[in-house]
Amino acid sequence: MNTERDRDWALLRERAEALLDDSRLGVSTLSTIEIERLIHDLSVHQIELELQNEELRTTQNQLEQTRDRYARLYHQAPVGYLTLDASGIIRQTNQTFASMVGRGRGELAGRALADFLADPEHDVFLGRFSAFFKNPEGKSIDVTLCNKDTHKFAARLTGRKDADALLLPRRELVPSMTLLLVIVQDISQQKAMEDALRASEERFRGYYELGLIGMGIMALNKSWVQFNDRLCEILGHPRAELATTTWAEITHPDDLAAEIAQFNRVLAGKTDGYTLDKRFIRRDSQTVHTIISVRCVHSPSGSPDYLVVIVQDITERKALELELRRLATTDPLTDLANRRHFLAQVELELELLQRYAKPAALLMIDLDHFKQVNDSYGHAAGDAVLRHFATVARHVLRKVDLLGRLGGEEFAALLPGTDPEGARQLAERLRQIIASSPAHTASGIITITVSIGVTLFALSDSAADTVLARADRALYRAKDEGRNRVEVDIPELPLLPL
Ligand code: GH3
Ligand code: MG
Ligand code: MG
Repeated sequence: MNTERDRDWALLRERAEALLDDSRLGVSTLSTIEIERLIHDLSVHQIELELQNEELRTTQNQLEQTRDRYARLYHQAPVGYLTLDASGIIRQTNQTFASMVGRGRGELAGRALADFLADPEHDVFLGRFSAFFKNPEGKSIDVTLCNKDTHKFAARLTGRKDADALLLPRRELVPSMTLLLVIVQDISQQKAMEDALRASEERFRGYYELGLIGMGIMALNKSWVQFNDRLCEILGHPRAELATTTWAEITHPDDLAAEIAQFNRVLAGKTDGYTLDKRFIRRDSQTVHTIISVRCVHSPSGSPDYLVVIVQDITERKALELELRRLATTDPLTDLANRRHFLAQVELELELLQRYAKPAALLMIDLDHFKQVNDSYGHAAGDAVLRHFATVARHVLRKVDLLGRLGGEEFAALLPGTDPEGARQLAERLRQIIASSPAHTASGIITITVSIGVTLFALSDSAADTVLARADRALYRAKDEGRNRVEVDIPELPLLPL
């Protein structure tokens, strides 16, 4: 490319040398004009040369800057770089890798990478290396690297075939030699996180499969997507059936509306979930009481994705609760309402009267000469007679009526929606049936009679006691009149203002 300029240059040189020779001989064959032209040409060339030199220096500087930048990138990269030859010998490393293994870069060149692996991994690594070296694309090797202080850490090796040998000293480059650029990433933190995640997943799976509680995943269309065996057990449907059923279809009809409302609030994004005391209907039509906790899992865009459900069977607990409530409200000997429960119901009835003018009557019943029953037949027989009275009286009364044992051999009946005449007739019927139904006890057949006081609820009654006291007055009149009688005490004020 420069041949023309070279030719010019040679020509100029020839003429200059000739000029020099002539001047040495003192003979000038060149005219003054020619000499001036020659000097002009020489000056131009000199300037040209200087410009060229300047350009070369700039290019050289730029090259060096690029090389420095590259070296900085190489050495300060957040990952380790290694150049390996086919036998796994380190030809070159960056500073990051040297720091990872706690050595100087100089110490590493010429050593086998395998020397820095934890002992048990040696053979595995060497076994895989040759295939990795030949075709590293899409492969990675996870190894445990040891640094000088025997501190170990997990590293992931990936490779590029076109090892960039820019930084290798020229003398180390053998033209036909293939090298592998290996990228070394410290994945100990990532591994720790993965391990923690795995452990937590295993724990979750443990709960899921252990079957202490029913667990499942529900789709937004109310179908069961996934569930454990315990859930099938609690809900009382075989797996195949549950998989094609929505939770709505097996929810107790009385609990459905409440749950649908909660479910829709979740779908609308108003809440993340809900906890509910609800009943399911099992395949055998039995009701199962449960507590369910539902939580919504959202997709990355924030819309509801699916729902995680935990179901606990509380049927036993519910039964226990019911039994406790029964015990708290029932007289153990006769199974009738106990005094406290009976009085509470009287208070409620009084409220109904005051609010809705709903009439009600009350009977106070006392067994006649009961002391004699105990004295003649014994306490156990007395108890049997009390139970016998409860059974007979229950049959005489209507379903809506409430019979209670106020204490000893004293009973009372609450008769909602009953007028004075109805109440008196019912009391009379009860008196007659009791008198004609002797109790068959282990100690013999015992005939008893009762005295009954009848009253009506009045708007002026402020508490249950007032009603009871009035009935009591009637009862004692019945006792005074000779027992086995019904006496009525209607309140002085009319029931309803006319
Ligand atoms: P009357 O009411 O006709 O005036 O005579 P009474 O003999 O029934 O009256 P009183 O109130 O004096 O006696 C009630 C008796 O009821 C006294 C007590 O021993 C008996 N009694 C109270 N509670 C029980 C009980 O739970 N079991 C038995 N067997 N007897 C009871
Ligand atoms: Mg009595
Ligand atoms: Mg009594």
